[in-house]
Amino acid sequence: MDDGPNSFQMPVLFVGHGSPMNAIEDNSWSRGFRALGEGVPLPRAILAVSAHWYVDGTFLTASTRPETIHDFGGFPEPLYKILYPAPGDPALARRATALLGLPDEVMSSEWGIDHGTWSVLLHMFPKADIPVVQLSIDAGLPPREHLAMGRALGPLRYEGVLIMASGNIVHNLRDAFGQMRRGTATTPRWATGFDADVARALEDHDTAFLSRALKTEEGQHSHPTPDHYLPLLYAVGAAEGTGTISFPIVGFDVGSLSMRAVIFG
Ligand code: ZN
Repeated sequence: MDDGPNSFQMPVLFVGHGSPMNAIEDNSWSRGFRALGEGVPLPRAILAVSAHWYVDGTFLTASTRPETIHDFGGFPEPLYKILYPAPGDPALARRATALLGLPDEVMSSEWGIDHGTWSVLLHMFPKADIPVVQLSIDAGLPPREHLAMGRALGPLRYEGVLIMASGNIVHNLRDAFGQMRRGTATTPRWATGFDADVARALEDHDTAFLSRALKTEEGQHSHPTPDHYLPLLYAVGAAEGTGTISFPIVGFDVGSLSMRAVIFG
């Protein structure tokens, strides 16, 4: 492994995963995920931070064969049959544990690859041959601690690891389900406002705003619960000091669900 100062640095990704249906539908979002896979260098392994492993504590998946987890209800049968049989990477889990300064006990066999991760990866890397480790999000930590953990994981970028955070920059399911019921797709002003403010803060490397964004009025509308926002902070932390930011996917699904993706180059 080359840890030298000139060695190649992988980009960091934040992906808005949206509906699990994006896994099986051919739509502009799933096509966007496919293009993401073609747009990043082929990683040696993937460290995924998914909104859907939001628990009491920081854990890493340690299995050599992580299970595909179908962590949703009420969707069509084919979605429950999908497998994403990527191998695990216990050595990477151990390395991340060390970088985070955590004890070995955080290596967990309780979780696998959830749909926040596989609904995107099966388009990005359909062969499922790149090892995947998932990191949980500790629901008890303040935003700055999530940023700090992302920062601690930054060195993995020099080790061929793609850090992929998966959530949504605006995620208010009550609004989205309401729109689905009514057959509307109107983007509320708090959604466009918050999405734009976060985009601007990312471009300005304004981590102070990103840390307190959930406390703003638009942030509260955009995230009744913080789980889909917090993955972004891991990506921001891991990418700290990186110059380029791009938004390969933008727009809203079902009115208020921001599908914005970010590449920190
Ligand atoms: Zn989700």
